[in-house]
Amino acid sequence: MGQGTAESHSTHSGAQISLLRTFFRTLALMILLLLIFFNYKNLIQFYSAFSIANAMTHIDLNQLLEKGFILDIAFFLIVTLFLHVLWAVIITISCRPWFLRFADNIVRTQIWFILLLLHLILVLAANSLLYPTSLLGIFRNSPLVSIPFISLLSLILFSNFLYGVMSLLFPSKGLANILGATLMCLLLATFWIVDVPNGQARVNIEQPNLFIIGIDGLRPDHLAYRGADFSLAPKLNTLLSQASVYDKTYTPMGRTYVAWMSILSGLYPTNNGARFNLAPPELVQKPFPLVDALSKRGYQTTYAMDERRFNQIDEEYGFDSVVGPKVGAADAIIANLADLPLVNLLINTPVGQYLFPYLNINRAYGKTYDPQLFNKRVVTSLSTTAPNFLAIHFCQLHWPFTSKDFVELDSNQWQGNYNHFMYKAMLKKVDSQLDDFMTQLAHKGMLDNAHVYIISDHGEGFMLPQDKLTTQDEKGRQLNVSAWGHGTNLLAQEQTHVLLAHLRYSLGKPVNQSQRIDGLFSLVDIVPTLYADLGLPLSTKVDGQALPRHTRPDLDNRMVFVESSLPVRSVNASFINEKKVLSETASQYEVRENGRAVMKTENYWRNIALKQRAVYHRQWQLVLFPDDREPVLVNTQTKDWHYLDNYKGKAPWREMLFSLCEHYKSDPGMDVSNTCIKYLN
Ligand SMILES: [Zn+2]
Repeated sequence: MGQGTAESHSTHSGAQISLLRTFFRTLALMILLLLIFFNYKNLIQFYSAFSIANAMTHIDLNQLLEKGFILDIAFFLIVTLFLHVLWAVIITISCRPWFLRFADNIVRTQIWFILLLLHLILVLAANSLLYPTSLLGIFRNSPLVSIPFISLLSLILFSNFLYGVMSLLFPSKGLANILGATLMCLLLATFWIVDVPNGQARVNIEQPNLFIIGIDGLRPDHLAYRGADFSLAPKLNTLLSQASVYDKTYTPMGRTYVAWMSILSGLYPTNNGARFNLAPPELVQKPFPLVDALSKRGYQTTYAMDERRFNQIDEEYGFDSVVGPKVGAADAIIANLADLPLVNLLINTPVGQYLFPYLNINRAYGKTYDPQLFNKRVVTSLSTTAPNFLAIHFCQLHWPFTSKDFVELDSNQWQGNYNHFMYKAMLKKVDSQLDDFMTQLAHKGMLDNAHVYIISDHGEGFMLPQDKLTTQDEKGRQLNVSAWGHGTNLLAQEQTHVLLAHLRYSLGKPVNQSQRIDGLFSLVDIVPTLYADLGLPLSTKVDGQALPRHTRPDLDNRMVFVESSLPVRSVNASFINEKKVLSETASQYEVRENGRAVMKTENYWRNIALKQRAVYHRQWQLVLFPDDREPVLVNTQTKDWHYLDNYKGKAPWREMLFSLCEHYKSDPGMDVSNTCIKYLN
């Protein structure tokens, strides 16, 4: 038995005061530690959280005073503080049984200090093990970061805490408390290790599941079917070798939200209103008629995305449910403040989505983003009784190319271009994420009867030598033919050329013909194709055409339209300057009452006038510029280009220019230099 009855009585009253003091001591140290962590991160980071916040506040301080924004930041700070208070309580309770045995203040302080130190070591070591790219993963290469050590220390500290709780609840039962605490600990550990299997209700659904799977920024020329190294994306390449691949597909605009708006509406941006990321929601056509039609047919409709900073698609667009982090302007600031060990350790737990809605399954907070967890959350959200329509977008391949684990360094892939090197490294990660996702779908019986479309929303410019068009025309005139990023320059073909592939699954296996389909296609073609897949009458206006199941020469007259976003000067540098990008673009946005960043309406209209516009037809591309430069005609096969005024070849540029002028005729500022009239008359 631990304590004598008379003695324990006298130390008991003393211990109460001492525990309270211990709690405040611990809390004070926690807060001091938070300040140290915060300053340490600022010291070693190129951009601090505040430099980014500052870049935003530069523009419009009162924008950040919107209620939703303040509430979001306050919620994050309160939760973080609360968790550290809770931790201080746990350490204090852990001290209690020892304080009952030792009345001496020096011994008590020593016990407290050792427990505090062990707790800190545990949290820092676990953070380093699970999230090695965390700035505070300071133990990442030390022997402390081993599963046996962390498990043992967790078990000891947890037993100690439980012992403290039991001694508080049942003060008279000393030994029984130790036994009880150990037993509970072992039980909990067993639950932790043995993952409860999901129920696998294989259901036979008559209507096929429909999946549109998007991979952000994926360039087709990095895939094996276009001649790239198979090992860059082995799983995806295997999958595509079984698919119908629509070889020449273009995105209507090289930006995530705009591309997805076109995918889900079947309309070009000119007709659905989404001309930019973060376009004012009241100017955008929603909900999607396709999603409504599918709901009426009994489908469960889900939109899932692991980064929603620039993508606002949600329930208002007609979806039954949305899986992904919360959307709001606070995202950027919280993601930059968040890298704290205790916060990191809780983000991916079941309570993480409630405590940290901006950080849970958020690829933009790459340090803790767990691709498998995102997959699991999406797959478990699917209906097992109704057919599913799921549009899902994976964003790991998007700049800034960060991930939870360090990337494998394959020096063979290094060609002196950092962004491109990281892109290829991240391609492997998104490849295994997609593979895991497909496996989970198959496992749940979701591919027993399904149509799967695999797409990318845009490409990515890396200024690679093989991408460039000829830099000058036959008269020696120069043209800016390439650019970094996406949506910034229509002459950079790699920014707008995207992946589009279809697989028809039956009983878990693809049953379609594997083939490459020639012709010109656009992401707006998916909606009419889905209507056709289901045999639904197309009751809504669309710009796209149902995708053919084989190459059809009669589709040779197709015109496909592409527009640019805004040219941003700071992304034309080789290293993207985050602060500059923000300050260059932030003045265009406002924060609405719900905490979301939105492009100001006046900027939306003004910016449309600054777009480049292009039409593709056979191997030709015709580009109109916002300034008074002459139109440029590109031969995408030979990679040479001509100003229209001295072009003598046989390209059907008149038909192309006519279509282009027709398509964009209602745009403000369209054709200020009267190009359409000049060349068409
Ligand atoms: Zn994107």
